[in-house]
Amino acid sequence: MGVELSLQRLQANLKTSTRMPLVFLGHGSPMNAIEDTAFSRSWTELGRILPRPQAILVVSAHWMTRGTTLVDVSPRPRIIHDFYGFPDALYAQQYPAQGDPELAAEVVTLLAEHRVQGDNSWGLDHGAWTLLKFLYPAADVPVFQLSVDLSKPLRWHLDLGKTLSSLRDRGVLILGSGNLVHNLSALRFDDKPHDWALEFDQQVAERLIGRDFNALSDQRSSVLGGKKKTGDLMRLAHPTLEHYIPALTIAGASRAKDELYFTTEGISLGSLSMRSFVFHGS
Ligand code: ZN
Repeated sequence: MGVELSLQRLQANLKTSTRMPLVFLGHGSPMNAIEDTAFSRSWTELGRILPRPQAILVVSAHWMTRGTTLVDVSPRPRIIHDFYGFPDALYAQQYPAQGDPELAAEVVTLLAEHRVQGDNSWGLDHGAWTLLKFLYPAADVPVFQLSVDLSKPLRWHLDLGKTLSSLRDRGVLILGSGNLVHNLSALRFDDKPHDWALEFDQQVAERLIGRDFNALSDQRSSVLGGKKKTGDLMRLAHPTLEHYIPALTIAGASRAKDELYFTTEGISLGSLSMRSFVFHGS
């Protein structure tokens, strides 16, 4: 693969630009929020080297809407413990960050052609706070979420990212949170990756490197629609699309001259890609 796994190289290059990088993180199990894992350590390290944002806009797999896209305009987003059957310590987690109602309202206007609406009923779901807790542990950067409209085609989410891109020049960190492979019904506790999980993850990585985002947003393309003995590759990797879509929005917000950095990779529990990436450029 033509891109090294390197936080150090990213750190050196971050000093050369005032435009905020774009970040997509594979969040995996909520347990990463309370465990010392290679992934949680990488999030701490990333938070240490990223320029300090004015605000963070999170596109999380866990805020799913249909027929509308919502932006959280609440002044103080509540923390949502949106998972079941986990240890008490996970439900005790808090992330008392402020929202940014003014900027969120501007985002509603910026995305007018995408028919986006303000909303104050959501908050921060675990797709957001399990990562933010490590990136910005003091919870001192305003943060607000954008929902994922599952009724829209993949291409639409790429275009949404393109419209959001101008926020990078205003000090806004756009953070996508999902997983490049996410099939909860195929989890394996021996941690051995499924062949199709490795293949899909690799295909997506190569298309990201080649900036072939059309292939990534076309479900009939050879990448997404490839046939396996066990079924359609996309359906195996993503029985539902919410964990994939935030990566498209991030890719859409990138510019041709941005460099791509993979900050972590690997398949966790057989069917969760923990591949994470950053786009950065001057
Ligand atoms: Zn998730």
